[in-house]
Amino acid sequence: TLKSMFEQTVAKYPEKEGLVDLRLGTRWTYREWDIEVNRLANALKASGVGKGDRVSTVLFNTAEFATSLFACMKIGAIFNPINFRLMSKELSFILKDADPKVVLFEKATSSQVQPLVQSMPHIEFWSIDEQNMEYALSYYEQIEGVSIDRPSCHLEEDDPYAIMYTSGTTGLPKGVVHSHRDMVDQALLMTAALRLTDKDRGLTVAPIFHCAELHCTFFPRVMVGAANVFMHHFDPAEVIETVKEEEVTSFFAAPTMWNMMLQEDFSKEDFRTLRQGLYGGAPMAPALTTRLHEALGVQLIQAYGMTEMGPAITALMEDEQQSKAGSAGRPLINFDVRVVKTNERGPSEPEEVCKPGEPGEIIVRGPSMMQAYYNRPEATEEALYKGWYHTGDIGSFDDDGYLWVSDRVKDMIISGGENIYSREVEDVLFDHPAVMDAAVIGEPDELWGERVVAFIVKKDDHLDEKQLDEFCTSENRLARYKRPRRYEFVSELPRNASGKLQKFKLREKSAAILE
Ligand code: AMP
Ligand code: MG
Repeated sequence: TLKSMFEQTVAKYPEKEGLVDLRLGTRWTYREWDIEVNRLANALKASGVGKGDRVSTVLFNTAEFATSLFACMKIGAIFNPINFRLMSKELSFILKDADPKVVLFEKATSSQVQPLVQSMPHIEFWSIDEQNMEYALSYYEQIEGVSIDRPSCHLEEDDPYAIMYTSGTTGLPKGVVHSHRDMVDQALLMTAALRLTDKDRGLTVAPIFHCAELHCTFFPRVMVGAANVFMHHFDPAEVIETVKEEEVTSFFAAPTMWNMMLQEDFSKEDFRTLRQGLYGGAPMAPALTTRLHEALGVQLIQAYGMTEMGPAITALMEDEQQSKAGSAGRPLINFDVRVVKTNERGPSEPEEVCKPGEPGEIIVRGPSMMQAYYNRPEATEEALYKGWYHTGDIGSFDDDGYLWVSDRVKDMIISGGENIYSREVEDVLFDHPAVMDAAVIGEPDELWGERVVAFIVKKDDHLDEKQLDEFCTSENRLARYKRPRRYEFVSELPRNASGKLQKFKLREKSAAILE
């Protein structure tokens, strides 16, 4: 279990720095961290939280997040980290579904949480900041004077460890249930892939409520006794400063975060201690990986996956970044990844596997696959049809066994009967030196069904539609039918907390413009 994983590290590396919270300016060794975990576990128990009960957090990257996570395990409670960007209405949906006993929140999320406190009297709301105590309890008052003895609780490896709600860009959010075993497997894989040791110092700057940070880097670091430096939220200049100050060796950031760091002034010397950088959760244009390599002096590692799978299922390693730029790499150990013809799924229909080069839906099975969607047996059955998780992503394998992810099924553009993958067009736009950020969607077209529209954030004010059109069509960069027919210049693109483009917002925008 993750609980025994944590306790083994505490036993093995008691005096090693385990957790650093830059916001509090506090440092804990693994032994000290374990004491805080025990204290909170006993406090939660005293508030009536028992095995199988849920505890939710609406927290940024805070020590209290890291402590409550393991505190839940010590009493067998199920951890439910919630996206700190969600509005009250979305939060309320999740809290009704997960039905936690306790919710931890902070000043930075209180405007969303506070409106719910009164309407959900059966839930205890604990604030980790003293400032906003209306109807809520103080986290620090709750743990005052509580025993620091390790609570006893028997866990099986298949017991659920967490429920994580997927971003739900379409429909209502679904709670992904993962077991302890799932996450120990994912952590083992990532420890090996990243060659992590107790000498590593990791930076948690990507939102830790999301599985990319939590499962791909945080657990693996805890597993080997590495240090975890928590930065409350992302600030590009502060990341660069912290890497230098804290001698960070490894960290994960979403592609858009890397892009923002690139706009800062820094030298390779600032990244002297950095051994590896990771990205994932959304595609990164090859042009951007090249620019980053030149600026940082380190090749990045890419992970591709989804909450339902734990998340990582494939990785593109440092030495593959150049030769396979744009690919999502190869499957991680023990994962089966297939590309199948997209069809209407039904029990009697065998799914046909695509040949190399032929695009289809990516399906996968492997050790860290979710147990179920919480309270959603039908959705679970559909997603895990015949034991394979159906990703809703389109991709293809090449002859060397590398996976290329081209689009979400629902984001693909069909123009004049031809499929256009938005990613291909976005990658070309990113190649233009005056483009800072780009997103492509389809908008209705009377003649062609759909036409390509590009949203561009400029790096250089002089950039115009004509230059971009010339760029796309010259040097065989894009077939003519794929080129954007319309450009919108915007100051930023809508992205969620984990850096994914919110294309539904762009579609709303385009519909409003067309009206
Ligand atoms: P989530 O479960 O919310 O993290 O979303 C998972 C989705 O993010 C996947 O199905 C992909 O569409 C996208 N995604 C994650 N990692 C990558 C990647 N490395 N490249 C392209 N898309 C990605
Ligand atoms: Mg499993």
